[in-house]
Amino acid sequence: MIWTWLLDLLYPPKCPFCGKLLESPLLALCENCQEVIPWLEGENALRKIEFTEGCYSPMAYRNSVPDSIHRFKFYGCPSYGRRYGILVAQCVQDHYTKPLDFVTWAPISQKRLRTRGYDQGKKLAEGVAEQLGLPLQKTLKKVRHTQAQSTLSEDAQRRGNVLGAYQMLDGVNVAGKHILLVDDVVTSGSTLEECASVLMEHGAAQICCATLAQSRKNRQNFSLGTENCFEKNS
Ligand SMILES: [Zn+2]
Repeated sequence: MIWTWLLDLLYPPKCPFCGKLLESPLLALCENCQEVIPWLEGENALRKIEFTEGCYSPMAYRNSVPDSIHRFKFYGCPSYGRRYGILVAQCVQDHYTKPLDFVTWAPISQKRLRTRGYDQGKKLAEGVAEQLGLPLQKTLKKVRHTQAQSTLSEDAQRRGNVLGAYQMLDGVNVAGKHILLVDDVVTSGSTLEECASVLMEHGAAQICCATLAQSRKNRQNFSLGTENCFEKNS
């Protein structure tokens, strides 16, 4: 925590959506983005996912959201995980009232971890766990390197792409556990569905999913956004 405080002092946190300096490190985003972010209200925040209680997301994947997530994933901005975590945790608290034992995430492959240097799903899950006061538990490993889901437009392609891609980590026991499964974006839900099926096979009691953003199904492939990360302490 002292390290975090020191980093905030050296590199004041900025809004992950527009880059404006934030008045407090406790804020997730700036006042202006608070007004213009495409928030999902009520049932729109929920997408049904097989084997789970559904997936809750605070915002739609449009306007400034895709560029922000691209910076988080591809351009070295892992510190966004903490601010995104505030928004995801709030969304879960607003919609999901059942008890949860821990937070886990859909991991990236070792190959991708080597090239990227960090697992953005873990960074987001850390932020969510911190906000909810829940433990963070690594449960899954990605055993097969897959094509990026964002490059596939059809649901069937997405399902096939992740089928059998995840396995339980050795020595992890999820039997009887109520789990919050986190990822950055939900589109077809295939990744979350595949991860949830592995956790349920190993006896998990209930799984609730949460992502920062919800994308339309079968949307067009996106183009990569700006490389400007807005800050140096990522
Ligand atoms: Zn902003």
